[in-house]
Amino acid sequence: MRAEAAHGTRGRYAKGCRCESCRIAYRLYTRHYRTVDRRRNAVHGRRATYIRGCRCEACTIANKLYMRVYMRNYLRRQPNSITSTQSTGE
Ligand SMILES: [Zn+2]
Ligand SMILES: [Zn+2]
Repeated sequence: MRAEAAHGTRGRYAKGCRCESCRIAYRLYTRHYRTVDRRRNAVHGRRATYIRGCRCEACTIANKLYMRVYMRNYLRRQPNSITSTQSTGE
């Protein structure tokens, strides 16, 4: 078994090596793969895409806008805090 992947490659990591360079290679690979995979069918400029992990400008803005609208609706729905002094006169 001579043909082994070099250190700092995902292949070597897969074979069981956990040295620093192999771990970094593996981490970078998975991160890259996930980003590509997630963005493939993503519609940018949507909060859903932002939640899925995209932090591009369009998605960040979409999330901010959503939160602003959400908070406004939330506050509107809240019944006005009743601070009327209900001192039941006796
Ligand atoms: Zn290694
Ligand atoms: Zn995006």
